[in-house]
Amino acid sequence: MTDLILFWHRRDLRISDNIGLATAYQQTQKIVGVFCLDPTILNGDAIAPARVTYMIGCLEKLQEHYQKIGSQLLIIKGEPSQVIPNLAETLQAQAVFFNLDVEPYAKERDKKVTQILQGKGIKYRNFWDQLLHAPNDILTQSNKVYTIYTPFWKNWSQQKKASPTPKIEKLQGLNEQELELASKVGTINLPTAKDLGFIWENPLLLEPGEQAALERLELFIDQAINEYQEQRNYPSVDGTSQLSAALKFGAIGIRTVWQATSDVYENSRSDEVRNSVKAWQQELAWREFYQHCMYFFPELAKGAYRKEFKEFPWENNDEHFQAWCEGKTGYPIVDAAMRQMNEIGWMHNRCRMIVASFLTKDLIINWQLGEKYFMQKLFDGDLSANNGGWQWSASSGMDPKPLRIFNPASQAQKFDPEGEYIRQWLPELRSLDTEELVTGKISPLERHRCNYPDPIVDHNEQQREFKRRYQQIKQNV
Ligand code: FAD
Repeated sequence: MTDLILFWHRRDLRISDNIGLATAYQQTQKIVGVFCLDPTILNGDAIAPARVTYMIGCLEKLQEHYQKIGSQLLIIKGEPSQVIPNLAETLQAQAVFFNLDVEPYAKERDKKVTQILQGKGIKYRNFWDQLLHAPNDILTQSNKVYTIYTPFWKNWSQQKKASPTPKIEKLQGLNEQELELASKVGTINLPTAKDLGFIWENPLLLEPGEQAALERLELFIDQAINEYQEQRNYPSVDGTSQLSAALKFGAIGIRTVWQATSDVYENSRSDEVRNSVKAWQQELAWREFYQHCMYFFPELAKGAYRKEFKEFPWENNDEHFQAWCEGKTGYPIVDAAMRQMNEIGWMHNRCRMIVASFLTKDLIINWQLGEKYFMQKLFDGDLSANNGGWQWSASSGMDPKPLRIFNPASQAQKFDPEGEYIRQWLPELRSLDTEELVTGKISPLERHRCNYPDPIVDHNEQQREFKRRYQQIKQNV
């Protein structure tokens, strides 16, 4: 047994502000990172080329960082419960450290891996790193899990938050002989996304890696956080942080993010600024709320939380679904949003709510189809946040307000009043009047001239139909 600790990275693709890694560093400098390319995830049908491209980019940066401080990030491909214990055994590691995840698959995987490590007599330790507060730390007074966001936020926001972990300056990596041994049990060079079968040629909204995420945080703090509350709902404005992919893959530590925003809060005397910072922190709390929900109710990943939606009589018209996916519904704000996601792998939050409401309440299509399509496109696609957002929009989740229906025209009038966002993503409609764009009241002749489809459904009719179906199923539950 050597004093080596193998640090298994998963959703923490960084060195700084990493609780598991920092704890390993308190014990030894001999730490080597490993990332497992898991075929179960890579061969799944809810994976996005943009997301894989971002992840591989983060791994590349992480490898460089390890190298700079004297160690290595090993890459291994295969079933984690075989390859991780095997590698640890071959390198005679004294322990495997890793940070925990809330997703059902990750929990199962980790259970298998740790059982096998135990069987081989290899120690392991795990930590909560990706959340400011671990699931069991935020419970009601009677020790129950929160199912409603507002009381969760009240409790969560009052708890003391940890500071970022101390910097890791120097590590000791494997020697030539050990590297040779590692390659005998399957370590490989980092493949490109293309090598793995994922083609993404458009630029990513955020460059991969820790440095780019930190710079983006700085930019957001300097330029946008002060007006976040005011600007966050306008999709044509860069009013949000666009840090979601970095938070999903842990290219940035959540404590670092929290500290930067708290500093703005503490150093400002303006109510407007403080309210804006708080509004942004509330979004971080939504992120944690949905992760806690996924941790305690893993069945959410499989379907509706509320009973009346388990057997909902969806229309599931395949042509309508295709039109929605391609951004060809004839509703400009919906189509602009879908084209944004198809093109850049990201969609503004306001528009995610609009298109999700449209799919479920106007097209009466099962939200799970939309949930999956989002996961196939988003570079920030994340099971908990995506599932939470979809169940909220479909009214099938924990949200106490049941029938939320968005009117695409009023949404566009309110949040894209000049039609800038619509014009950006629907070039064929650029020449139309703003009024036509935001109300969607475009004559059949104009639609024909612009090669833009007629509306595939009527909003008023469909929302009545959705409500009728809902009332019917509610009576039967
Ligand atoms: P900011 O406004 O800057 O927010 C900061 C961070 O808070 C985000 O990066 C994100 O980590 C978190 N956050 C913000 N809003 C939410 C929210 N409503 N729920 C959970 N976390 C939130 N977010 C994802 O990260 N991955 C997804 O797959 C995802 N799918 C969604 C699907 C639907 C139908 C809806 C309505 C929302 C979804 N969201 C998802 C939440 C939200 O739209 C994105 O987090 C946000 O648009 C990302 O942009 P940003 O980083 O600029 O956000």
